[in-house]
Amino acid sequence: MPEVYLENVTKRYGRHVAVKNLTLKINDKEFFSLLGPPGSGKSTILRLIAGLETPDEGNIYIDGRLVNNVPPLERDVAMMFETLALYPHMTVYENLAFPLRKLNLSEEEIRDRIKETAELLRIDHLLDRRPAQLSGGERQRVALGRALVKRSKILLLDEPLGHLDAKLRVYARVEIKKIQRRLEQTAIMSTFSITDAATISDRMGLMSRGELLQVDEPQVFFEKPRNLFVARYVSSLPLNVIPCILEDRGGKLLLTSQGFELDVSRLSAILAERVGEKLILGIRPSVVEVRNAPPGIEAVVDAIEPMGSENILKINAGGIGMFVKVSAIHRYKSGDKIWIQPMLDKIYIFDEREEAIYPYSI
Ligand code: ADP
Ligand code: MG
Repeated sequence: MPEVYLENVTKRYGRHVAVKNLTLKINDKEFFSLLGPPGSGKSTILRLIAGLETPDEGNIYIDGRLVNNVPPLERDVAMMFETLALYPHMTVYENLAFPLRKLNLSEEEIRDRIKETAELLRIDHLLDRRPAQLSGGERQRVALGRALVKRSKILLLDEPLGHLDAKLRVYARVEIKKIQRRLEQTAIMSTFSITDAATISDRMGLMSRGELLQVDEPQVFFEKPRNLFVARYVSSLPLNVIPCILEDRGGKLLLTSQGFELDVSRLSAILAERVGEKLILGIRPSVVEVRNAPPGIEAVVDAIEPMGSENILKINAGGIGMFVKVSAIHRYKSGDKIWIQPMLDKIYIFDEREEAIYPYSI
């Protein structure tokens, strides 16, 4: 039985549909991320699970129990808010004690729990301070602490890493994951960042306009994106998107666009029936072999963007502009002729409606 089950849930604000007929099962002790651009409905889903909103349609189950009309305090759920929502006039200790007082625990039990949580998050030296006297990273840990101190079965984290700089995010990700494992909670996190979601999650779901486009383990999003939106969203470098025609030239299957031609004969089992169709080729910059001589697709280097141990080349392949990633050992310069070979098992092919036909379907 899933720990959290949303069944055909719809949530509207006036005429705006924030969550649209959404079904999602999250397993016990799983770390699940809701990934998506701002406004896609991530926070709304967390608020629905927490009981801060009620669905207009559909059902929400927690641990098998229908909770549509169960108030937040009776749901065994704790939420860390995007705004952090710390009480400015209270000390860190009082901020952490606040959710526990509502549970009618003894002062002694409250003190023990706060001590344990503060040690876990390394904020035990901050307990007497007020939020204004904390750094951004410390405030983030206190807000996380306020959600953890309840020891609820379900932990909801709304953009928990949003206030941290790039380096702190790396530490915080590791820390959150470790704590979630140790406390054996079911965690649901919202984030716009594919890196945050992919590094921390057992599974994740990509949202757009209140709908889930794909739910899978992170790796599957890169290997088999379901459509062009998903492929673009999860690609850390800009995805090369090339509208093509599939041609049969003397038994050879070619995806062509202007002077660009990619031989896809090896994929004939999937493509043979689509000769003549308009298809969309998706190529990540990192899945292209670059050579100094044929064979391959002839191209010219337009510009080089150094990225440390790697360079991004902007190239022109038969009139098509593309980005490819190469090791910085190769010292290309603008005007160089190169030959490229996209790795056929790593490219994506979409139909005209932008739905994946390869490799998603295999
Ligand atoms: P996300 O967390 O993915 O950024 P939200 O769940 O916050 O998205 O919002 C989804 C959509 O619902 C957005 O278009 C947002 O403007 C709208 N929305 C959210 N909360 C409210 C509200 N209280 N009143 C009106 N519209 C809202
Ligand atoms: Mg949000």
